Amino acid sequence: MNLGVREMSDLWKNFRKIEPYVPGEQPQFSDKIKLNTNENPYPPSPAVKKVIDGFCTDDLKLYPDPDVSELNGAIADYYGVDKSKVFSGVGSDDVLAMCFMAFFNSGKPVLFPDITYSFYPVWANLFNIKYETKRLDDNFRIVKEDYFCENGGIVFPNPNAPTGVELPLDEVEEIISRNRNSVVIVDEAYVDFGGKSALPLVDKYENLVVVQTFSKSRSLAGLRIGFAVANEGLISVLNAVRNSFNSYTMNSITIKAGAAAVKDDAYFKETVEKIINTREKTKTALKKLGFEFQDSKSNFIFAKHKTVKAEDIFNALREKHIFVRYFNQPRIDNYLRITVGTDEEMQIFIDFLKNYLKDKC
Ligand code: PMP
Repeated sequence: MNLGVREMSDLWKNFRKIEPYVPGEQPQFSDKIKLNTNENPYPPSPAVKKVIDGFCTDDLKLYPDPDVSELNGAIADYYGVDKSKVFSGVGSDDVLAMCFMAFFNSGKPVLFPDITYSFYPVWANLFNIKYETKRLDDNFRIVKEDYFCENGGIVFPNPNAPTGVELPLDEVEEIISRNRNSVVIVDEAYVDFGGKSALPLVDKYENLVVVQTFSKSRSLAGLRIGFAVANEGLISVLNAVRNSFNSYTMNSITIKAGAAAVKDDAYFKETVEKIINTREKTKTALKKLGFEFQDSKSNFIFAKHKTVKAEDIFNALREKHIFVRYFNQPRIDNYLRITVGTDEEMQIFIDFLKNYLKDKC
């Protein structure tokens, strides 16, 4: 049966049709430089290894703690908030999806930037939430005034993805304070790489949810941990939604390993600093090679070349098993998003570009 006929059949016509989010490629070559999904190039804290190596597998016979107390407690202690203000999930994707379900039910359109994390429209479609996008300015900045209007909620990453551009905290605060009747979600997946967090504003604004992840700055993309911090009321709504869906999203190993990761502050600071230093060196090298980009406060650089097409550079890098991300989308189809790897990886990347561009320019 071909797909067209199949989709018209009585069985298929009531199935959900949805355009899914497309995650970055996970190439299976052993000799690769992977700068395409904003992972951390360094391993997680040794404390994580210790917990996983020492985990008592017999304990897997029991359900995990549905309150995720050990992990939420460690997050709460680290950020100096009460545990009742913390919610965790299977990566921040899970937390954000729960937030969409929990908070965006007014029937009015939810607002987010036109160039942003491409999962937002997917969740909106999945949960039948209306949305409107607001154009970033020509320097890829969020225009705060665009968000001073009737809406059913607001979500944006800060720093934004895939641009890396940060909205200053006072402007974030203005967006929150001008929208007291709708929830504002600040997605801080990349904030640890030099951005200013809105976490201190949680006590001031009842309508603020700050979402962060262990996937980037804590090198735990494979474990899947994200969390939200908000007032107790919003957190209890999130818990009610989660418990109406799956009470045990966080497994026992992840709860323990995540708690160990967040407690190792020295390792966290050391790796984040290394990435920031490498990012700054890479910016200088890219500028010398004729790339242009806005200042990035994240673990990636969103750049275009003055003369050579992004798609051509992407393909040439790919042939050498150097993977960066290319989005074939309006306004950004001449840009590459380059994750910051180790110094050594970035040197190989820059050396390749030097050679490649020499013949092109
Ligand atoms: N928000 C933004 C802006 C992201 O780029 C990502 C990474 N794809 C996420 C959230 C989700 O990250 P994770 O689910 O790994 O926490």
